[in-house]
Amino acid sequence: MKDPFISGKPCRTKGGVHVPHHKHTAALETVALPTPEKVKIPMQMHIGAPCNPLVKVGDTVLVGQKIGDADAPFSAPIHASVSGTVTGVYPMTLGGGAVSTVVEITSDGKMEEAPLAPPTVTDRASFLAAVRESGLVGLGGAGFPTHIKLNVPKGKTVDTLLINAAECEPYLTGDHRTALEDGWDVLSGVYAIAHYLDIPRVLICVENNKPDAIAELRRIADSSLDEGDRVRVLSLRASYPQGAEKVLIRAATGRVVPDGGLPADAGCIVLNITGAATLARYLKTGMPLVSKRVTVDGDAIERPANVRVPIGTPIADVLAFCGLREEPRKVLMGGPMMGTALADTAVPLVKNNNGILALTEKGAAQAAPSACIRCGFCVRACPMGLSPLTLARAASAGDTDTLQKAGALSCMECGCCSYSCPASRTIVQNIRIGKGLLREKMKKERKG
Ligand code: SF4
Ligand code: SF4
Repeated sequence: MKDPFISGKPCRTKGGVHVPHHKHTAALETVALPTPEKVKIPMQMHIGAPCNPLVKVGDTVLVGQKIGDADAPFSAPIHASVSGTVTGVYPMTLGGGAVSTVVEITSDGKMEEAPLAPPTVTDRASFLAAVRESGLVGLGGAGFPTHIKLNVPKGKTVDTLLINAAECEPYLTGDHRTALEDGWDVLSGVYAIAHYLDIPRVLICVENNKPDAIAELRRIADSSLDEGDRVRVLSLRASYPQGAEKVLIRAATGRVVPDGGLPADAGCIVLNITGAATLARYLKTGMPLVSKRVTVDGDAIERPANVRVPIGTPIADVLAFCGLREEPRKVLMGGPMMGTALADTAVPLVKNNNGILALTEKGAAQAAPSACIRCGFCVRACPMGLSPLTLARAASAGDTDTLQKAGALSCMECGCCSYSCPASRTIVQNIRIGKGLLREKMKKERKG
């Protein structure tokens, strides 16, 4: 197998599906949402310990001011996204169904920034401390704190940094716009990570349906800034879920992350392209993560766009800004393959939200499921080499032994199995429930 860093060609990956791209907003420059009247900023937008609010009702706050933090290392601080007055601190149900304390800020309309300065970074430890202070977490997935991701466990060696710009979910184009609008920030973030973590090579991975992004990133990566030619741009086949961490590592290096293992077990760190750009801006200005570029699209949207939105803004405000052709039947946070359907659009935009899709009755229509015809399409589509029909059946029967034996916890819930099923069976939904049952059982066994 040829090394993609040398050959410039990706390795073969298993499974996956070809989904319609619907990248309607790829050519549209990002627009800024007018300052919202109120934001509700959750104290838990990451995996790990929730933050404790550092402000109380009546306090005035400025953009970029820290308003939440935790002593636990596995957490990430939270900052004000608008200037104004704290008008509430209370629990709220978020888009994903979890309950979190939110800090409500009523905006003064000024977007006045806190007095910020770039962090002092001199070595690996101070770099990781700065990454934590930036508030950066995984911007499209589960919200894994970035300073933990970049802190390679002792005994493991990382030789490759993969910048994930695959953006394989239909509709979403925020990372594509990052490549086009913030390419220099991306490369500046990449050089900082490679320098302080002493990583000898970097591959920026982009699907081949974004030729302009590939050209722009290559133009910058090939500049004289890249001393030693350690940064290259790899064009990947456009196939869903090419951007899933384990699939990307396989495509870009040919290496396999062991079951239950981390990217570092395959000598890699994977970071999202927008994360790299956000980090570069923090290192340059001291402004932490306070806003997100989100793709707003779907057949119920009047003016699809990429919108820069302060974190904590109600989803309803973003929908109103882009306009609705008709009352949507379904609103999703994220893309159509892995997004979460919202019960209420009053919920706030969070750090790991990269898209809002509003679909009409027609756009959201799904065929009624029928009996399994044992065609095996779901097995062929699974990028993890699992047997989705076996897992779904075991989940329906509550058979946790089979779920465990068949590797349910390796399922990344990409939805390729459901997408490819001619009987429209709710396979991934069943597996998700099955994984919950299995985790519950394993927890009980651990307790005794
Ligand atoms: S959702 Fe899980 S079982 Fe289905 S294709 Fe993806 S990884 Fe495989
Ligand atoms: S794709 Fe659907 S119909 Fe075919 S084997 Fe899998 S579950 Fe059964």
